[in-house]
Amino acid sequence: MKSIRWKLVIIYVAMIFIVLILAGTFIILSYRSQQENKAERDLKQYAATIRENIIGEYEEPGLFQTGFDSPTFGISKGEFQGNILDAEGTTIASNSTGGDGIFPKYQSTAIISAQHGEECFIAGRKHPDANDIFTIWMEYAVPVRNSISSEVEYIIYVRVNADSIYSSISETTNTFILAILIALVLTGILGVVFSGTLTGPISILSSKARELAAGNLDQEIPVSSKDEIGQLTESFNYMASELKKTISEMESEKNKTEIVLYNMTDGVLAYDSGGKLTHANQVSEELLGAENVTGKTFDEIASLLFPSAGLSVSNPGSFRESTLTIGEKYISVSLTSHKNAAGVLEGIVIVLQDITKHKKLDDMRKEFVANVSHEMRTPLTNIKSYAETLMDGAIDDKNVAMDFLGVIAGEVDRMTHIVKDLLELSSLDNKQLVLDIRPTNICDIIRETIKQHMLIAKKQNKDIYFEEPGDNVMINADRQRISQVLTNIINNSVKYSYDGATIEIWIEQSLYYIRVFVRDNGMGIPKDDLRNIFERFYRVDKARSRALGGTGLGLAIAKEIMEAHGGGISAVSEFGKGTTMILRFPNKTEVKNLNDESEDF
Ligand code: ATP
Ligand code: MG
Repeated sequence: MKSIRWKLVIIYVAMIFIVLILAGTFIILSYRSQQENKAERDLKQYAATIRENIIGEYEEPGLFQTGFDSPTFGISKGEFQGNILDAEGTTIASNSTGGDGIFPKYQSTAIISAQHGEECFIAGRKHPDANDIFTIWMEYAVPVRNSISSEVEYIIYVRVNADSIYSSISETTNTFILAILIALVLTGILGVVFSGTLTGPISILSSKARELAAGNLDQEIPVSSKDEIGQLTESFNYMASELKKTISEMESEKNKTEIVLYNMTDGVLAYDSGGKLTHANQVSEELLGAENVTGKTFDEIASLLFPSAGLSVSNPGSFRESTLTIGEKYISVSLTSHKNAAGVLEGIVIVLQDITKHKKLDDMRKEFVANVSHEMRTPLTNIKSYAETLMDGAIDDKNVAMDFLGVIAGEVDRMTHIVKDLLELSSLDNKQLVLDIRPTNICDIIRETIKQHMLIAKKQNKDIYFEEPGDNVMINADRQRISQVLTNIINNSVKYSYDGATIEIWIEQSLYYIRVFVRDNGMGIPKDDLRNIFERFYRVDKARSRALGGTGLGLAIAKEIMEAHGGGISAVSEFGKGTTMILRFPNKTEVKNLNDESEDF
């Protein structure tokens, strides 16, 4: 019996049953004893009457019957049977003779008791009559002693038919049992109804609690009473609303953490105390490759990230750092394990940082310093050796001395040129260069620059040709700086091409950009070098470039200047055939839309 409802019904019915049975038994028993007492009283009184009126009056046993035969005696007690027995138990007088006039013979414990001198009352003894029909009797026997010898002389034995009494008792009992049954059925029905009012809200509560546990947090039960169940319902509603609040707070915290982890530029991997991956953000997969992260245990990732450390989830260490290279990427890895107060491992977090840029910048810085030192050392060595030769006596020969001094001055100029370029780059790097930006006609700058180079180009039998657009093309730019960029590009085209080469310049305009193309049919740039020509000190053919006075800083400066203008510079080249340099300026009419440009070179 699992349900409280049925337990309540059973308790209820059982209680009522016990109470009714007890009450009924008491009532029936007391009714019976009341009836029996009454009969006993009557029988005793009847016996006393027999003693007084018959034995006392007629004295002679032979006459006793006369007493019974007297018209008043026998009738007065109705169904009572009165008998006088002698000491042996033989009936010597009776008020109920059979039709044949023979006195009935009696056998009864009451008679035996009386023979032994004890009066005796027996209630409810079944006794068969002459036709073997059983009748229930209440009987009473009392000895009558001889006044002199005090021995039992007669026995007065009286009895009364108790069938009606007992049948009325059994009828009452039956009625009572019926009443009990009806009461039990009614109690059962009422019990079901009443217990339903108790258990109904409890089963609603328990089903709502199950739904709550299943994650359905919108649970509110209407409160229909102010009793304990009503209070319980209120408490449940309060608990459900608090739970919902707490869970939504936790969820928003979790979301925040997820958002932070998702948007972090560092990769994060988290493992539980069993070494199972519990969290991996996208960056971590990008850095290590999803195949190295998804579904991998801590032991597997540890052997990838810290190959020689022999780390495992049973021995993760508390903190460890390392740097590793995957493909072209440099990744800094730091591992932290966290333990609870008892020192038991709770989890491990690995943070991955892409330090490729830092590493490259660092390498570039080192290379730059090496390049600068190298570029300075050559002129300095030259100056030193020419100065020493002069000091060793060459100064006395004026022509030689002038020649040497000319070389020294040339080297100083070259150093000054490098230092000037470096200073300019440095101020571009530090954004210290203030650009004098104003609307400028780019065609003017191109024409001017061509003019500066025409003489030297003509000398080398080279031609510079500008395909003029029909109209002025206006850009927002610092005229002097753009002239500097164009000077370097045209100068390069002249420098790195053969006699008879042609340099063509033209302008193209699109919605977002204005592009200036400078194409030569010179020596071109090998594919592998092309992406490096904008780096500082990068020269494709170092010897040739230096011989032509180049330092490899011109295009680096051009790139910085173009970027400072919100534009850019790029190159297309085929080795041995020629090079096209492209300068890109934002179209001043569309400057605002630059961010959503989709055009490329
Ligand atoms: P600087 O311009 O500082 O005097 P430079 O001309 O050598 O020296 P950049 O202008 O930066 O340096 O050019 C870098 C390198 O790119 C050059 O050394 C050259 O090898 C290559 N280069 C540039 N323009 C051309 C071109 N039009 N044709 C062939 N190679 C070129
Ligand atoms: Mg140059």
